[in-house]
Amino acid sequence: MRVLSVVSELYPFVKTGGLADVAGALPPALRGHGIDMRSLLPAYPSVVARTGWGEVVHHWPDYYGGEARLRRLEAEGHRLFLLDAPHLYDRPGGPYTDPAGVDHPDNWRRFAALSRAGADLARGLIFDFRPDIVHAHDWQTALAAAFVHYDGTPSASVVTVHNLAFQGQFDAGIFPALGLPPDAFSIHGVEYYGGVGFLKAGLKLATGITAVSPTYAEEIRTPEGGMGLAGLLSDRVDDLCGIVNGIDAAAWDPASDPHLPARFTADDRPARQVNRRALEARFGLDADDAPIFSVVSRLTWQKGIDLLAETADHLVGLGAKLAVLGSGDPGLEHAFREAATRHPGRIGTVIGYDEPLAHLLQGGADAILIPSRFEPCGLTQLYGLRYGSVPVVARVGGLADTVIDANHAALVAGVATGIQFSPVDVPALRKAIRRAVHLYHSPGIWTRLRREGMKADVSWDHSAADYAALYRDLLDRSRR
Ligand code: ADP
Repeated sequence: MRVLSVVSELYPFVKTGGLADVAGALPPALRGHGIDMRSLLPAYPSVVARTGWGEVVHHWPDYYGGEARLRRLEAEGHRLFLLDAPHLYDRPGGPYTDPAGVDHPDNWRRFAALSRAGADLARGLIFDFRPDIVHAHDWQTALAAAFVHYDGTPSASVVTVHNLAFQGQFDAGIFPALGLPPDAFSIHGVEYYGGVGFLKAGLKLATGITAVSPTYAEEIRTPEGGMGLAGLLSDRVDDLCGIVNGIDAAAWDPASDPHLPARFTADDRPARQVNRRALEARFGLDADDAPIFSVVSRLTWQKGIDLLAETADHLVGLGAKLAVLGSGDPGLEHAFREAATRHPGRIGTVIGYDEPLAHLLQGGADAILIPSRFEPCGLTQLYGLRYGSVPVVARVGGLADTVIDANHAALVAGVATGIQFSPVDVPALRKAIRRAVHLYHSPGIWTRLRREGMKADVSWDHSAADYAALYRDLLDRSRR
């Protein structure tokens, strides 16, 4: 089976978030299931610098306002198509923003063009790769499903929701430039609250829809989680499923992690102790046996970091320590710098993005705190499980699906892997931290939690099998 993943970012070539990780991990994971997945992404300068240009397989004299080429190449195990349209992608900044962090005003055109190219491949643009399935991701490429639909192409399409908070809503005035038939501007197509909705269109018209965890697939059908799309998603409940993300098991392996002073397998206390001391030194924490809670996160409202800022004094009062690595909202950055000043030796803060330090926190802390208000899937709890850093998480989205709460029954059965709390507010977070500190001091229990977590399968194996089964199902349905 041939699948084309149409995507705006793909690790290791270009990444702003978890979407890139999924797009990068799926093609190799699907190979074992007999699926030939190739990826189409923009020829951003940073991507081309790494991959080279490849061969031109199609040329458009005028494509969404300029000359464009479709290029094909293989790089680092990925079979790629690059949409080379200099007027759209050859500019400084990130995939979506200028160097000052401001969204490009023509993002609608940039991603409509990418989506159109995906649908063109589906209708046979090049003779030797016509995909059976077009897999689009988030608002940036959701329109590919709409194009496939209006083209009447036999391919099936699937749209994955990585984060419903970003929907690609634009003024109705852009509609004529999208290249869709006039009747697509309707409630059954791209029209969304009087404007154009890219994600809305994809969710309406794709053969299938996935969200990045089963709980998130439910949450996005509720008024709070649906962000305006709950009704549409509820209508499509039979076509919607949740599949959790896995982790890059090579990059995140405590047995071979080059960022750890001491590598370890299973619950190797002496090695973790070495990492713990390194962590304490790096964050200016006292070297003692008090439990260390860590945070590796964007410092934002979504991540519930404001709740944690309010809980920090309480955490220290319980005798615990806190190491925070993150960047984001300036007010929250300030709050944690202040907390570190207020509690020297007990709270340490590093503001910034630091990949090696994120590994040290997972390999040296006792627990990782994730009080997110919503979390489509989440990766840091999965790293925590693999590294024996017990996740203490809000019971939302993928956090609810991947951590088994240490309630009485789960402890007795020996299956608990972490702590969940709900609702997502300060009292519940405090209580969760209290529970964690209590379990930490209960002989044997913390070790068991850690061991069970480290046994959990957080690889892509299961999820790739789920995607493969979904593709087969979609193909059957589209042929019927
Ligand atoms: P999201 O994509 O919403 O930010 P995820 O949990 O899915 O949340 O993924 C976050 C990723 O970013 C993880 O790989 C995490 O380790 C990493 N990360 C977040 N903040 C930092 C930071 N300050 N330094 C290093 N890595 C970070």
